[in-house]
Amino acid sequence: MYDENNVFAKILRQEIPSTFIYEDDYVVSFYDIHPKAPTHVLVVPKKPYIDLNDFMQKAEQDEVYHVLKAVQKVAQQLDVVQAGYKVLLNVGKGAGQEVPHLHFHILSNKK
Ligand code: 5GP
Repeated sequence: MYDENNVFAKILRQEIPSTFIYEDDYVVSFYDIHPKAPTHVLVVPKKPYIDLNDFMQKAEQDEVYHVLKAVQKVAQQLDVVQAGYKVLLNVGKGAGQEVPHLHFHILSNKK
């Protein structure tokens, strides 16, 4: 079951202050608090999905498209497309997912 008190739910409700570098109807994006690369940004869907499994079970096709499109738009906005970037999606505690709200990491060696 989705935990309404996870840290990203609090950020989405603006109970924890965070500077969004991108926002649209489907996602918000902000810098990771503990960056693991020179550029490390998170893209977080606004709806309460726990992880990719939950997302693919519940989301409309249109939403899946818009969320992925937003990941790529944020990479463009960060100007890391030319340099290259990784998109990381941890699914489940066993894979290292600490925050139980779906999120995509964008990592690039370009600052
Ligand atoms: P996960 O391990 O769940 O895939 O990634 C969670 C990420 O969220 C980690 O990279 C961690 O540094 C980041 N994080 C955790 N709490 C906060 C927070 O309060 N603010 C921000 N900006 N990032 C956070």
